[in-house]
Amino acid sequence: MISDSLDLKIVNGTVYHSGEFIRRDIGIKNGKISRIVQRGGLGSAERTVDASDAIIIPGVIDAHVHFRDLDLSYKEDFLSGSQAAIAGGVTTVLEMPNSRPKTNTLTTLKKKKTLALKAGLINIGFHVGLPEHLESIKELLQDGIVGVKIYPDDKTSYYEQTDDDKIKKFFQFIENLPVRACIHAEEPGLSILEKEYIEGGMTAIDAYFKAHEPDSEARVIKKLARIALESRVKLHFCHVSTRPAIEFLKHVKKPQISCEITPHHLLLLKNQVNIQGTIAKMLPPLRSATHVDALWEGIRSGIIDILATDHAPHAKSEKERDFTSAPSGLVGLETFLPLCLTLVNEKRLKFKQLIQMITEIPAKLFGLKNKGIIDINKDADLTLINMSSSGCITPSRFKTKARFSPFDGWKYQGKAIMTIVNGKIVMEEDQILKQSKPGKILKSVFIE
Ligand SMILES: [Zn+2]
Repeated sequence: MISDSLDLKIVNGTVYHSGEFIRRDIGIKNGKISRIVQRGGLGSAERTVDASDAIIIPGVIDAHVHFRDLDLSYKEDFLSGSQAAIAGGVTTVLEMPNSRPKTNTLTTLKKKKTLALKAGLINIGFHVGLPEHLESIKELLQDGIVGVKIYPDDKTSYYEQTDDDKIKKFFQFIENLPVRACIHAEEPGLSILEKEYIEGGMTAIDAYFKAHEPDSEARVIKKLARIALESRVKLHFCHVSTRPAIEFLKHVKKPQISCEITPHHLLLLKNQVNIQGTIAKMLPPLRSATHVDALWEGIRSGIIDILATDHAPHAKSEKERDFTSAPSGLVGLETFLPLCLTLVNEKRLKFKQLIQMITEIPAKLFGLKNKGIIDINKDADLTLINMSSSGCITPSRFKTKARFSPFDGWKYQGKAIMTIVNGKIVMEEDQILKQSKPGKILKSVFIE
C-alpha cells in the first residue's frame, strides 16, 4: 500500500542504537523513526540514502549557544546560526538569553521563537534570563522554555550571589518547575576588578586572568551546589574550566546537579591568549595545563555530563578592539564535531561516551522528549558522520557570521556529512538545503 511507503530510508549504515554500533537500515515516516531493521529489510521510500561510509548517531544537541539576533543580528541571527549548526551536524540547540533585548519577557521570547521558526532549519529550545518579577517565570514556562540562565552580574533582583537567603528563595521558587537553572559560575563584579588591576599598572591580559582567577569558579559552584542540595532545584554548571571545580563536583548528587565543559577549554591552554590575542578571549578564560588535565580526568571518571560549544559570535571589528574592550567569546558549532571526532580517532576520547555527552545526556538533563536516541517512534533527528573525512578548520568557509576561530588551520579527521532534522535532510555534503523547514521549538518535559 502506498500509505506504508517511507518518506526516507537510510541503508547500509552503522547505527548507534541501544549503546552499540550495529548495521541496520532506518526507515523514517512523518518526521519519526518508524523502523530499524536488518539490512535490506525496508520497503519502498520516497528517497533512499546510502550510508555505507557513515556512522549514524542521534542528532547532536548543543545545550549552550548564543544566536544573538534582534538588536545584535549583525553578530549572528537565527538563520546564520542555524546554518552553522546543521553544517556542523547539530540538529538541536538551546539558546541563551543574554541577547539585546534579553530573553526575560514574553514579548522577546515570542519574537525569538518567530525568528527561529522562520529560519526553520533546526530544533531550538530557549533558556531565559531572570525576569523583573520572579513570578513571571511561570508565564515564560507556559510558553515553553528549557532553562533559566543565571549570570554573575545579573541586575534583576531576587538573585545575588552574595545573599544566601535570596538564592535559597529563588531555588525554592523554581524547584517544582520543569526547568533546569544554568549557572555561569563566576563571582559578580569581576570586570570592575579587572579595570582596577589595570589602573594599578597591570597589563590588560594579566588583569583579565587575575580577575577571572580559577578559584572564583569553584567558590561559586560550592556555594550554589550547597544551597541547591537543600532543595530539589535542578542545577547545571555551564562551561566548567578549573581543577578545584572538578574536584568538588566529584561529590555532588547527579542528575540534580550537572555540568558541562567546552571543547575550547579542553583543547587550548591559556598561553593562546598571548599568541592569538582577543580571538582566544572568552569567559571563563582558557586555563593552564593543571586545569585542562582535570577536565580530561573529569571526562574519564564521568563527572562531566555534557560537552557544549558556548557558540558566542561577535563581529570581527569588535574582536579587533584593544584587549580589555574586545568582547569575550568564540564560535563553536562548526568545529564541534570535527574537533571531538578527531579526539576519538586519536583515541583520546571514547566514541560512545562522546555520543552520549552530546546526544542522550543533554536530552535527559533538559527534558527534551523524543530526542537524543535512535529508536522507534523517536524524532528522526540524525547526524551521519564520516570518521575518515579529513581536512583543516577553515573559518572563511563557516556559515556563522563570525568567520574566525582560535582553531583556524587545525587538522581534523571526522565530520558530519549529513544532517537530518525531524526526518528532513537539511545538510548534505556541506550543502545547506533550505527548502524544507522541519525545525521546531522545544520545551522541557520532565517525567518524575
Ligand atoms: Zn555562553
